[in-house]
Amino acid sequence: MLWRYHKFFVPVFFVCLLAIGTISKLPDVDLHITLFEGQDKLFHFFEYTLLAITGNIAFRFVPRRRWKLFLFALLFIAVDELFQAYIPGRDPDFWDGVADLIPFLLLFATRFPVPYKRADVSGFEETKAFELLRSVIPGKKFTHGRKEGEICIEITEKEIRFNYLGKPLFTRSVDASFNDRGHFIKREIYDAFSLIHDRRLSPWGLLFQTRPHKVMHYLPGKEALGPLRELFRVRKDKVRLLEQVYRTEEKILPRVEGTTALYIGIPFCPSRCAYCSFTSYSKEKYSRYYKPFVEALCREMEERIPLLEQSVSMIYMGGGTPFTLEDRDMERVLGVATRKAGVSSLLEFTVEAGRPELFTKEKCELLKKFGVNRIAVNPQTIHPSTLERIGRLATREDFIRAYETAFETGFEIINADIIFGLPGEKFSHHKATLKALLGLEGINNITIHALAPKRGSEMGFHGTEKRRSLERSFDYAYRTLNRHGFSPYYLYKQRHIAGNLENIGYSREGKESCYNVAMIGELCNIAGFGVGSSTKIKRGLGVETRKNPKDLTLYIETMRKLYG
Ligand code: SF4
Repeated sequence: MLWRYHKFFVPVFFVCLLAIGTISKLPDVDLHITLFEGQDKLFHFFEYTLLAITGNIAFRFVPRRRWKLFLFALLFIAVDELFQAYIPGRDPDFWDGVADLIPFLLLFATRFPVPYKRADVSGFEETKAFELLRSVIPGKKFTHGRKEGEICIEITEKEIRFNYLGKPLFTRSVDASFNDRGHFIKREIYDAFSLIHDRRLSPWGLLFQTRPHKVMHYLPGKEALGPLRELFRVRKDKVRLLEQVYRTEEKILPRVEGTTALYIGIPFCPSRCAYCSFTSYSKEKYSRYYKPFVEALCREMEERIPLLEQSVSMIYMGGGTPFTLEDRDMERVLGVATRKAGVSSLLEFTVEAGRPELFTKEKCELLKKFGVNRIAVNPQTIHPSTLERIGRLATREDFIRAYETAFETGFEIINADIIFGLPGEKFSHHKATLKALLGLEGINNITIHALAPKRGSEMGFHGTEKRRSLERSFDYAYRTLNRHGFSPYYLYKQRHIAGNLENIGYSREGKESCYNVAMIGELCNIAGFGVGSSTKIKRGLGVETRKNPKDLTLYIETMRKLYG
């Protein structure tokens, strides 16, 4: 309720300030009442707390309030001390000045978000604003066009009105000279909600789309820092990330432009991870569909690969878990893919083998025989209790054994995927997982995902509240990996991603995954094979997407009908 009357707190704040700063220093006001030892300190504490709360509420919506308040504090102290110089028996006192500064320091340090559960945005460009809010603020309910909820935002072509519990809170004007009015509105709403939450909403600012680095294509002279901070509110270190990713993309583009990459999706897994929303079927439960699937996949590749108009530059086998394929089926699938696509001009051949418990020497050697040069062993975390909680069957020892098997087989690039933000994990867990990976001989690719549970997962959308701890983990990973000779080379974001952070791939120089860069940057065509995989064809500036059926039985049936 306080926020409905926030303007009322401006005079309250100044009255409190005067009371604390001046009246208590007058010689006649000492009442000599002692209730308990140290009472004056306790009173001071309450006074300053009151001041911090009233000041925070009163000045919340003043632009750049913190710096203005700081300057005001210095002025206040100077005047206060000058005033005291005229009180008989009092001299300006340095420590009094320091004490006066305390409320302002508290004001800087305290955070009082405006309490609300639901907010609605209606009017001009309401869906854009709604999408932004829904993406950058987890844990709150946003609607558009309903005019319900504690916070209601009404957008007209001239102004944006923010109402709280039915009363006006504040208004922002829309700058008509701004070229993209939709963007201007989104930025104003983003800034307003930063004030409402009393913090920066996201290190990525207004860049909540899947491929944030694409914004670099539109920057004149590619000078990113100024525009990205000013227009999109992106934090400085994230701008640097975008620049690094964009530079890698520029390097890889000439190698893959005008080619096609094959994606082969294997939809089976040994068990289902609690956070998973991919197309994945338990191999045990759906065992009767296993053979028909392998048959359908081989038929699809045999028929479609020869029809591709461009040469195949890369093959990526993912899923699911490719290592759920039995050795002879793996041999068959790889055989069809390489025979039909040709391997002489392949830039990269990746198998995202996945679950460490399925690694065997025989499987690794089989991949090597077909020219696979990049393999992924994905521990996600090294902590046994978390692995159990998320339904993964492998242990830390399984991962190390799998990694060593891959390393000894001689793969050029070995990647390990880890997730930050898993339930029950905090900064120290992430740090330990990263440290364990960096201790592995020959590791040259590490991909860090921020947890992004979706509706289809057991975990639901929860677990996205640990924003600060996650930001700390991502910052730590960036610094540590840089120190160990890794650089970020590709990144993407997802809806409902924990802390509104990113999925980011790090590699040592020259060990980047061309497929990841090409796929995220949409640098070449992708031909998808298998259950739920997507085919992406570049058309002018856009990309046309076609999807295979996500349902296993429907996929098998469709392939049978199409290719016999
Ligand atoms: S291994 Fe990957 S695809 Fe399989 S259940 Fe786990 S997250 Fe999903």
